[in-house]
Amino acid sequence: MVSETALPARIERLSELAHNMWWSWHHASRTVFRSLDYPLWSLTGHNPAKMLHQIDPIRLRLAARDPEFLEVYDKAIAELDKDLLGNSNWFQQSHPEHRRDVIAYFSAEFAIHNSLPIYAGGLGILAGDLLKEASDLGLPMVGVGLMYPQGYFQQHIGPDGWQQEVYRELDFRSAPISPVRMSPDATCAPLTSVRLGSRSVQLGAYLVRVGRVELYLVCTDVDGNSPEDRQLTSRLYTAEQSRRIQQEIVLGIGGTRILKAIGIEPTVWHANEGHTAFMMMERIRGERERGRSPEDALDAVRARTVFTTHTPVPAGHDVFSFDLMDEHFSGYWDLPGADRSRMLELGRTDGSAQFNMTTFALRTSARSNAVSKKHMQVTQRMWQGLWPDTPEDLVPISHVTNGVHPPTWLSAELAELYCSHLGHDWAERHDDIALWDGIDKISDDALWQARRKQKQRLITAMALRGQECWASGRCSPQQALAMGSLFEPTALTIGFVRRFTEYKRPTLLFRDIERLKRIVRDPWCPVQIVFAGKSHPADEASKQLLQQVYRMCLDREFRGRVAFVEDYDMHMSRLLTRGVDVWLNTPRRPREASGTSGMKACMNGVIHLSVPDGWWPEGYDGTNGWVIGDETLSASHEEEDSRDADALYSILENEVIPLFYDRDRNGIPHGWLKKVRSSIKSITPRFSSRRMVKDYVGTMYIPVLEQGYGPQAPR
Ligand SMILES: *Cc1c(COP(=O)(O)O)cnc(C)c1O
Repeated sequence: MVSETALPARIERLSELAHNMWWSWHHASRTVFRSLDYPLWSLTGHNPAKMLHQIDPIRLRLAARDPEFLEVYDKAIAELDKDLLGNSNWFQQSHPEHRRDVIAYFSAEFAIHNSLPIYAGGLGILAGDLLKEASDLGLPMVGVGLMYPQGYFQQHIGPDGWQQEVYRELDFRSAPISPVRMSPDATCAPLTSVRLGSRSVQLGAYLVRVGRVELYLVCTDVDGNSPEDRQLTSRLYTAEQSRRIQQEIVLGIGGTRILKAIGIEPTVWHANEGHTAFMMMERIRGERERGRSPEDALDAVRARTVFTTHTPVPAGHDVFSFDLMDEHFSGYWDLPGADRSRMLELGRTDGSAQFNMTTFALRTSARSNAVSKKHMQVTQRMWQGLWPDTPEDLVPISHVTNGVHPPTWLSAELAELYCSHLGHDWAERHDDIALWDGIDKISDDALWQARRKQKQRLITAMALRGQECWASGRCSPQQALAMGSLFEPTALTIGFVRRFTEYKRPTLLFRDIERLKRIVRDPWCPVQIVFAGKSHPADEASKQLLQQVYRMCLDREFRGRVAFVEDYDMHMSRLLTRGVDVWLNTPRRPREASGTSGMKACMNGVIHLSVPDGWWPEGYDGTNGWVIGDETLSASHEEEDSRDADALYSILENEVIPLFYDRDRNGIPHGWLKKVRSSIKSITPRFSSRRMVKDYVGTMYIPVLEQGYGPQAPR
């Protein structure tokens, strides 16, 4: 908000609009900035805060006198006020007695919009969608996360297919955030501190407004800290254990203290994934400091805490040796109520001298959940050891299946069709399953036109990127082609778009290259495949997989029909989940906790083709997509790959391709569109963030508020 161009009085609330990320999912607000200065809107990557920073004052003065602009502006302001100040929302209507409660949601990443790149992937997307939905439903929620000035990296692919990582420093002045307390030089001033080893580190916080919800991002880049400590949280997910534990102390312990310093007193504390669990430790210490016995302190904290676990892969859980803990907690253990041996014991899993963040979280939460039904079963098995007397299927870990936020992910073309066929209030009722029968009222012609437009947008964006890359001299013609410059809008397009990691099997499609070439090159029924996704910078094996895929993109025999799009982020994700025809998902069983990109694709009329893992066993109903193989586990990876690749090719050859190319005289594929409808209808209401947040309220937050601690948590 610093040195923003002065705003004429008539439109002075532009600043408020720009500094509430409400604009990221409200058309009315985006229209204001788009019509204010379209070139600048594009140039700033659709970032209103940055726009106000750079805009020509003359433009603002003209806008303040332009009746057409003022109409758009007044409409957006009225909508903002209704949404932010109104009390006719779902939560206040259904739980008026809990209006004054506060739910604190801690997460290591939040994906709200590209202009705030503090997310790496699915976990952040989930947290961002959850906050937006909490705002829409009127939940009294605050978010707590970390400010990463360099965020996650930008991805470039070299000519040899090797991933290169570029880190960019965020320009704070033009991000939609503001310091909770400002220092004299207009940066973030300290509010509290934490001990790391024997030193004290000052902490400030930035406030991000996400509709009604306030999100606080803890920051160590403040006065009084050493240069190294200022850089402590500069990047997301470093592979280095000692930096990671320090970041998690800043998030969990620091985040708890920041809330206290601001004067926020949560009544429910939600730990999203194990990274955040030091939050519980600090609260237990606080209860001890206030004079409670160790048992009572633990009970009091547990009674108010819920925990969500997100990964069935053992390496995905943070485990710190007791030695490492002692190194970084030495100062903390000296604080009143810290109880070193008790705390360490709560994180110990099987007698080893290691502190497991998930174990600690499970022991200090009243309710814990996994993120799909299937993931719940895997998680119950994984953690059964903590409840030795309980049979596996009764281990008290429930599930709240993930969902995605339609206003963020749905294309304008489809939103328009839904508006005219399901009713103008469709967005408010979108989790009503019966509403979606209205999809049958949309004509095949209109649905197909909308799908074609979505696809055209993607293919144009890919071609533009190829063009820019080539023109800037940054890449060879071959590389420009590998970015999809030869893609055709009429060919069946399959997307494999996800984090590059071994268990997701990005190269499964290439298991039988000759068979795939026959499929792709068919002159009458051509197929195109677009890949996108980042490898973790420290994961060499996954970079090699990416390189293998890239080599296929360069292979002439695929005729430019296999492409890799660089730098998968929210923007690219929106284009891809709307623009392809088929969304391909091939994780090894049972490694996918849920997955959410497939849900985004389905609500945009893309058809899901997936291994029955994560959310798909709940989503698939026999008519709304395809399943690769079944749920049985194979004896070896080799066997699983061979079976799945075979099944995948057969489904493509015998079902997907024939259905897509079966056209009437006007070129419309009626059979395909039947599946598209079935996909939209069955997935949108059940896998939206609205259903998810209502589930969290009904099965986690309200029970905790009304019953406190149940008998579920392990001792
Ligand atoms: C939706 C989304 C994800 C999550 O995708 P899954 O592979 O389904 O877990 C990751 N990254 C981005 C940018 C997304 O938009």
